[in-house]
Amino acid sequence: MSLYDVLLNDSGRYFLLGNEAIVRGLIEAGVGAAATYPGTPSSEVGDVLSRIAKKAGIYFEYSTNEIVALEVAAAAAVSGVRAFTFMKHVGLNVASDAFMSISYTGTNSGLVIMTGDDPSMFSSQNEQDNRHYAEFAYMPLIEPSNPQEAKDYLVYSFQISEKYGTPVLFRTTTRISHLRGIVEYGKKMEINRMGHFKKNFEKFTLLPSNAYRQKEKLIERFNKLKDESENSPLNRIEANGSEYGIITSGAAYNSVKDALKELNLNIDILKLGFTYPLPEKKVAEFLRSHRKVIIFEELDPFIETKVRMVAQISGINTQINGKIDGFSPWSYEFNPDRVMDSLSMIFGIERRKRETYGDINLPKRPPVLCPGCPHRATFYAAKLVTKQLRLNDPIFPNDIGCYSLGYQKPYQMSDFLLCMGSSIGSASGFSQVTDQKVISFIGDSTFFHAGIPGLINAVHNNHRLVLIILDNRTTAMTGHQPNPGLPINAYREPATEISIEEIVKAAGVKYVKTVDPYDLKETMIAIREAVNSDGVSVIIAKRECALLRDDRMRKNGTWIIYQVNQDKCTKCMNCVRNFSCPAIFVDKDGNVKIDPVLCDGCGVCSTNLVCAFHAIERVEK
Ligand code: SF4
Ligand code: SF4
Repeated sequence: MSLYDVLLNDSGRYFLLGNEAIVRGLIEAGVGAAATYPGTPSSEVGDVLSRIAKKAGIYFEYSTNEIVALEVAAAAAVSGVRAFTFMKHVGLNVASDAFMSISYTGTNSGLVIMTGDDPSMFSSQNEQDNRHYAEFAYMPLIEPSNPQEAKDYLVYSFQISEKYGTPVLFRTTTRISHLRGIVEYGKKMEINRMGHFKKNFEKFTLLPSNAYRQKEKLIERFNKLKDESENSPLNRIEANGSEYGIITSGAAYNSVKDALKELNLNIDILKLGFTYPLPEKKVAEFLRSHRKVIIFEELDPFIETKVRMVAQISGINTQINGKIDGFSPWSYEFNPDRVMDSLSMIFGIERRKRETYGDINLPKRPPVLCPGCPHRATFYAAKLVTKQLRLNDPIFPNDIGCYSLGYQKPYQMSDFLLCMGSSIGSASGFSQVTDQKVISFIGDSTFFHAGIPGLINAVHNNHRLVLIILDNRTTAMTGHQPNPGLPINAYREPATEISIEEIVKAAGVKYVKTVDPYDLKETMIAIREAVNSDGVSVIIAKRECALLRDDRMRKNGTWIIYQVNQDKCTKCMNCVRNFSCPAIFVDKDGNVKIDPVLCDGCGVCSTNLVCAFHAIERVEK
C-alpha cells in the first residue's frame, strides 16, 4: 500500500513524517482548500497533497508566492470552506501583508496558516522565530512536538479557528516536520470543497473606518482566546513532585525529556502546545509552586519574556532561568547536549560529554551543482565573457534557488543575496551607485514569485543591468514542484503555461534572448551582447534540470556518458579547475577521468570551450 493510500485510510496506526501527519490532519479536519509556495521544511506537505488532494476532494494549488497562497486560502475560509496554507518561515514575511489583515477580518470557516521555521538554518537565509508573528497579529499560536501532535493539534487548530472566527498560526520547525513517529488516526470529517461567500462589507472590506471597528473586535477576541489557552489540554503539566520546574514547547520539549533522562533528574514540566496567548494563570500557578523554573525554547525568549512578565505582575519571586540571564542559547536548534549544558550550569552538575556522530571526523561535503546542471554551463559562459571583456570587478547579485551555489569556486558568482527576488532590485541599486557592470541571476520559479516587480522597476527607472533567468523548467531546490512557466498544475494536469519571454518583453525590455545553456557558444554571444547593451538586458537560459532529464532518459532506457580519451588529454586541467563538474576527477596517477556513475551525459565538457583538445568523448549504450 502506498503512502498516499495509507493517508486516506479510515483508521490505523502508521509511521509517518511530521509533514505527512499534517496532511492526515487536513483529511481528518475536513479541509476543502489548500495553497502554498514550496519551501523547506514545509515542502513535503505539498508533495503529498499534490498526489492525494484530488482523490480526497481537496482543492490544492501551488501559488506563485506565499501571499497569493494565503489570499486563496483566506477567500476559501470566508466562503465557508475550511482552508489551509503552509510555507517556510521566510515565506510568512512575503505573506505578512495579508496575514496581518486577515486577523482583523477574521474568518467564517477554519483557517490555519502553517509556518515551518528552520532553527540552525539548514536551508534558509535566516532563522527568524515566527512565533512573534502570532503576537504581532493577535493570533493564537499552536506548536506540536511530534507527528502525532502535528496531526491532532492541526485538527484542534481548526476547531479553535471556527470557535473564535480567527485564523490560527500553526508552527512547526524542521525537526518536527521531518521527524518520524507513530500516528494513531482519528475520525475523518466530511470534506466540504464548495462554499458560498456571504457578503459583509463592514467585516471583510478593510477600509479605514471598517478596520477601526474591527480592531476593537480583534482585542475582544484576543481576550477570549486567553481563557481558551488557560483551559487548553495542549498546555499540560507533567508533575514529578519536584521543587524545580521547566516550561518548554515544540522541539525543545523532546530535547528536555532526553536531557532529564540522561542526567537522571526528576523535574516538573509545563509543556505548552497552545503557546500564545500564554496561559498566564497556569504559568503563575506553576511559578508559585516551584522554587526555580527554567525555560527551554528554541531561538528567541518568546515564552520567557512573557513568563517573566507574569512573575513581575503577580509579584512572584520564583527564580527564573533562561536565555535572558545567559543560561540557555539564543541561536540554533536544541539537542539534548545543549539542554544538558544549561542544566549542568544551573544545578552545578558535572557531566560526561556524550559521544555523538559529531565527534567522528568525516570529510566535508559541501553542496554542489549536480553533474549536468545547466546552471553550471551558464555560470561558465558568463565567467568566460567577463574575462574576455575584461570587466572591472563586475557584481553578481544572486537569488534563492539551487543556483545560489554559483557562490562556489571556480564561479564565485553570488556577491549579494537577501531573499526571493532580491537579485533584480539589488542589481538596480548597484547599477546606480557604482560604475561596475552588474550581471544578476534568478531562477524561473523565483522570477514568478518575486522577480517581476523588480524587473518592471528596473526598466521603468532606466537601470542598466544584465539579468540571466535560469529557467530549468521546475522548482528544483524544494523537490521539483511545478511553477507557472510549465504547462502542468499541482495535480500534474494540463495548465496554462506562462511565457517568461513574453513577460520580459511586455515589461519593456529591449534586449531579450532565450538560449540553451548547453550551447556555450550561443550563450556567450548572448551574454556579450547583453553586457554591451544599454538599459536592462535579459537572457533566458532555458534547459530542464539535469535530474529531470536523467530520470527521463533512464525511463527511456538511454544511457549516455562521456569519458576522457587519455591519448588526447594534455592534462591542461581546464575541465577540472574551471568547469568543475563533480563527475570529473583526477585519479591517483594524475589522469583526468569521468566517473561513469556520476556523469549525466550532458556533453558540455566535451565542447571545445571546455576541452580544446577534444579529449572528452561520448559513450552511448
Ligand atoms: S580539458 Fe580536456 S585536455 Fe584538459 S584536462 Fe580536461 S580532458 Fe584533458
Ligand atoms: S558530460 Fe561532462 S559535464 Fe556533463 S555530466 Fe558528464 S562529465 Fe559532467
